[in-house]
Amino acid sequence: MQPSPPPRWVVLKYGGTSVASRARWEKIAERVAACIEEGLRPVVVCSAVSGISDRLDALPAAALKGEAEAPLAAILERHRRHAADLGVDPGLVADDLDRLSRLVKGIELVGETSPRVHARVMAFGEILSTRLGAAFLRGRGLDAGWVDTRECLDALPDPDPRRAFLQAHCGHGLDPALGERLDGVGRAVVAQGFIARDADGQTVLLGRGGSDTAAALFAARLGAERCEIWTDVPGMFTADPRRLPDARLLRRLDYDEAQEIASTGAKVLHPRCIPPVRAHRIPLWIRWTERPEVEGTVVGSRVDDAPRVRAISTRTGQYLVSMDTPGMWQQVGFLADVFAVFKRYGLSIDLVSTSEMNVTVSIDPAGNAFDAERFAALSDALAPHCQTKLIGPCAVVSLVGRHIRAILHRLGPALTAFEEHRVHLLSQAASDLNLSVVVDEDQAPRLVRNLHWLLFQEAARDPAFGPSWLALSDVGEQTAEVEGITPWWHAERERLIALAAELSPRYVYHGPSVDAAAARLTALSSVDRVFYAMKANPEPRLLQRIERAGLGFECVSPAEIDRVKAACPDIAPDRILFTPNFAPREEYVAGFEAGAWVTLDNLHPLEHWPDVFRGRDVMVRIDPGKGRGHHDHVKTAGARSKFGVSFDQIDRLKALAAQHDVTVVGLHAHSGSGIRTAAQWAEVAERLVEAAQRFPTVRHLDVGGGLAVAEKPGRAGVDLDAVDATLAAFKAKHPRYALWIEPGRYLVAEAGVLLARVTQLKKKGPVRYVGVDAGMNSLIRPALYGAYHAIVNLDRLGDAPTMVANVVGPICESGDTLGYNRDLPETREGDTLLVATAGAYGRSMASHYNLRQPALETVID
Ligand code: ADP
Ligand code: ASP
Ligand code: MG
Repeated sequence: MQPSPPPRWVVLKYGGTSVASRARWEKIAERVAACIEEGLRPVVVCSAVSGISDRLDALPAAALKGEAEAPLAAILERHRRHAADLGVDPGLVADDLDRLSRLVKGIELVGETSPRVHARVMAFGEILSTRLGAAFLRGRGLDAGWVDTRECLDALPDPDPRRAFLQAHCGHGLDPALGERLDGVGRAVVAQGFIARDADGQTVLLGRGGSDTAAALFAARLGAERCEIWTDVPGMFTADPRRLPDARLLRRLDYDEAQEIASTGAKVLHPRCIPPVRAHRIPLWIRWTERPEVEGTVVGSRVDDAPRVRAISTRTGQYLVSMDTPGMWQQVGFLADVFAVFKRYGLSIDLVSTSEMNVTVSIDPAGNAFDAERFAALSDALAPHCQTKLIGPCAVVSLVGRHIRAILHRLGPALTAFEEHRVHLLSQAASDLNLSVVVDEDQAPRLVRNLHWLLFQEAARDPAFGPSWLALSDVGEQTAEVEGITPWWHAERERLIALAAELSPRYVYHGPSVDAAAARLTALSSVDRVFYAMKANPEPRLLQRIERAGLGFECVSPAEIDRVKAACPDIAPDRILFTPNFAPREEYVAGFEAGAWVTLDNLHPLEHWPDVFRGRDVMVRIDPGKGRGHHDHVKTAGARSKFGVSFDQIDRLKALAAQHDVTVVGLHAHSGSGIRTAAQWAEVAERLVEAAQRFPTVRHLDVGGGLAVAEKPGRAGVDLDAVDATLAAFKAKHPRYALWIEPGRYLVAEAGVLLARVTQLKKKGPVRYVGVDAGMNSLIRPALYGAYHAIVNLDRLGDAPTMVANVVGPICESGDTLGYNRDLPETREGDTLLVATAGAYGRSMASHYNLRQPALETVID
């Protein structure tokens, strides 16, 4: 008989957010099944459920203060909920939870803890998540066994107990015994990240974020075919995509580059996970759990040695210790003396810069326990040698790439970004893989943005760089793919070109698209009334169409009320909502006179102008406390938003209403715009019910607008059926309230386009510009919110792109850019460009800046 071939292992590592919900575990099950199908044996290495490690980290200190009960209960509850979400037996983790509780009690009783106990406490995060996850996979019919990683990975000895227990190292040599051990566990094996054991069998940790390293160790010891890191972004990017949505996906990196990007701050990979896979030449993939079809980053052996910049990384919370000494010049042993003091205090130094009279070093608190107290002690110990000063918090911003020294001249333009920043320290790594500067922490985001723009805009066509995070996601919001929906303007192309030839720039609105959106909204079974938030677009012919569809109007100024009444003279006043914000007294008087529903969103009017409201019915805008939306400026809830009455003001509101004979008949909340989370509106309704319980006179709840539309090709807007279903469930629970909604964008965004003619073309260095006659005075959303609008060349619709350009307007502002790095076909002066999804907040936010007339409007059928 032929001996069976050795198993071909693959390691799949899932991070905290990737194991935190049933939806993600469905993805894990699919991936495991696909690997098995490929003939591979998957080892699934998991993190703790996101947020749990942080909570566990804080538990021992809380226990010492006798305050562990509540955080412990929260951890237990989170896992019970998680088990319920996954549909697995919570009893599976009962013993572990019990052990954790007893351990915490133990700390409380003896009144002390240690790195050893700390490691034991933290290990529970991974243990709990894997027990539940493995059961889920088995429930999916997969042959998935569970192992305790501590029986698989041994740590190397370390004399420093903190490092030994909290930042342990493990060997990564091939380990045939491990393969044999896992072989019997199941077709797939579920194991914990982050943990290992020492020679005494004690639990040790691999450092925060160390699950990646555990995965790489499994891969190395098993000689796996590859190690896949599944996380909440599609790969490694040119900068942290969550801070810089323009960051581009890096399709391929060699081990050295990935190592450097990780060590200089890109959290997506734990820096210690590279050596094990590099030693065995195991390819490391980084991929997006939520959307596995997106090709991520492949880290492998070096393919070429060309100098290049790959990424900009940032580490925040850093401190500089500046040491002045007039006597240092040509003195022997000065550095040895001061560094010995750092060694004595167990502080590891990161960057160093020296001059005749000063040595400055940086300290990374992530690898050190460094605080004011420790600095004071250090400073005393250094006193015989020098005068010390602490500078911080700072950020280390690093440009990472191969042979950075060889391309310093190419960085010339990028260095202009430093003009406005005080650079505390500059350091060029001896490895020639990074150039780092230290600036004040609050300067870092702007510096990174500038540097990124200067360094990577030319990379637009380089195939090594994949799409931007902005293009791949709607800045982190959940989206669904849609196929086969062609925007209305494809069929109207000829007509639009003719309209632009007649007058440009020009907004064109497609009436039937507005009708269709209105019909979708009036079809919602759970919603009693729909009001159009007309600030999105008050064009009178659109108002008339919307009125004919049976919608009401939400107005935010008396002029908007006048506009509705002029466009729709027969409209019943009770179809008008008046929702002003920080408006003067007389506007409320005007609102009541117009017969509209008047909404209060502050107590000031009731406190100071009670006569205006006496005997009246009012609506009150409540701040639901949590903002959502595509940009900070459009989030309209939370203490930092100027809108709404907060929950803690409700008692006062009730008292004022009673005192002045005012009846609160409705409550309203609106938490932002561009929201795709279907349950959002039902959540707002639930919040409103909490407030409504205090006001028996409340009859209707207005859950606001913010329904997202599809802004990008292939991207869906909010799922209206799902919104309807969640609101219907709400109504079934609370039948006494009528539900109102007030969308704006949803009705008009897709119906509108902005047409602009190409005026001039320019190429400056590597950057191309396509100039058009429409600027930010016509459409301010890209400049104001960084909003994305698709841009196409109507004259060459469907032609393959041949250039990447910034589409810019004629306004004297560098922000006057309608789109960055857009793929366009060969484009010439006089061509008609179409800016899509411009029907909402386009013309209505336009201005005469530079004394330029904004685009005029046309409605077509
Ligand atoms: P996990 O819990 O899956 O291990 P992490 O939170 O540890 O995930 O790492 C993923 C995060 O790393 C991303 O959400 C992103 O914000 C951050 N990150 C920082 N720099 C980069 C970069 N250059 N490329 C990709 N992600 C980065
Ligand atoms: N759960 C551990 C942490 O949060 C390890 C990891 O997720 O990588 O640090
Ligand atoms: Mg991580």
